[in-house]
Amino acid sequence: MGFLRRDTEVSEPGLLPQILLETLASLDGESVILGPGEVPIFSTSGIESLGILRENRIQSPELLATVRFVRRTGSQQIGQIEIPRGPIGEGKHQFTFRVLPLVKDDLVLVLVSDESEAQRAHDARRDFVANISHELKTPIGALSLLSEAVLGAKDDPESVTKFATRMQSEAKRLTDLVQEIIHLSRVQDSDPLQLPEEVSISYVIGEAIEQCQISSESRGISVKYLEPNHVVVLGDRDQLIMAIHNLIENAINYSPENTKVSISTEIENQVVSILVADQGIGIPKNEQGRIFERFYRVDPARSRQTGGTGLGLSIVKHVAAKHGGEVTLWSVESVGSTFSIRLPIHSLTVGRE
Ligand code: ADP
Repeated sequence: MGFLRRDTEVSEPGLLPQILLETLASLDGESVILGPGEVPIFSTSGIESLGILRENRIQSPELLATVRFVRRTGSQQIGQIEIPRGPIGEGKHQFTFRVLPLVKDDLVLVLVSDESEAQRAHDARRDFVANISHELKTPIGALSLLSEAVLGAKDDPESVTKFATRMQSEAKRLTDLVQEIIHLSRVQDSDPLQLPEEVSISYVIGEAIEQCQISSESRGISVKYLEPNHVVVLGDRDQLIMAIHNLIENAINYSPENTKVSISTEIENQVVSILVADQGIGIPKNEQGRIFERFYRVDPARSRQTGGTGLGLSIVKHVAAKHGGEVTLWSVESVGSTFSIRLPIHSLTVGRE
């Protein structure tokens, strides 16, 4: 909400009724009143930071044209404009505006609301639903084909066993996918810092390693936690275990057999970094920015082979962000990767796990 900032140049006492200014200031959006020559005589404080008004002029030619049209016709107009977020990059702010003639003194009122955030949330939801539908179609389609194959081969027990085994693995893929979708949406909807628990970092690392034991043993990969410490953070214990578990599971899945995965912690400036380092295939530089996106895989065939859902890193990113932290990545192809979850420290409890 803006507070009143009358434009110094034109402001004539009594030109605008106080009640109108107070109403505009109490609205959620921003507003500007234009006098003759489209000179602003009043605007709320946020209008400049939105980039609509600069150097006392309306910046968008589209909006100016609408204002002139409203002056000519006396009719209200509603529209949308896009204004660049900054001097570089492709980011744009999207605004909805409403332009109204004010009967008095040739004035025109422009009301502006920022639609970018609402639009972004809407787009993200729409993309997520589209992605989920696409991801679900693959195992469901496979199950349907395999069940037909089972029916067609009912007199051949060997084929039935083969198809039924594949049905089992597709059903498992479906279950894992649904489970991960639920995990991600829970993390997205939660606020682990609202009623946080004190969580010991060495405890969550220990739990995460234990959960990965079967896959690490089956691939002959040793998972070592180097030098446990006594850092405590605030948040949701299960979410933190899940995030570290996802990183260790990936480190195992994207490494050759009989290699090492090391987990360590570093403390600096009240921030703890939990590092998960592997000697695996690494991630090409040009893919490193995208792997945290939902369902993005560098090599979809390999991810499918390891039973990946494409949601693991997205969950890690959200868990870190919800805990006031971040996730960073160092990786070189054929050398290995190190993922780091960085979290604000609550306390260092010496001598207690
Ligand atoms: P997935 O279920 O496919 O593993 P993730 O979201 O966990 O999905 O990871 C996304 C992609 O990032 C993976 O498909 C893989 O290409 C890449 N990736 C993740 N972790 C590693 C790693 N430790 N080493 C190499 N590539 C990795």
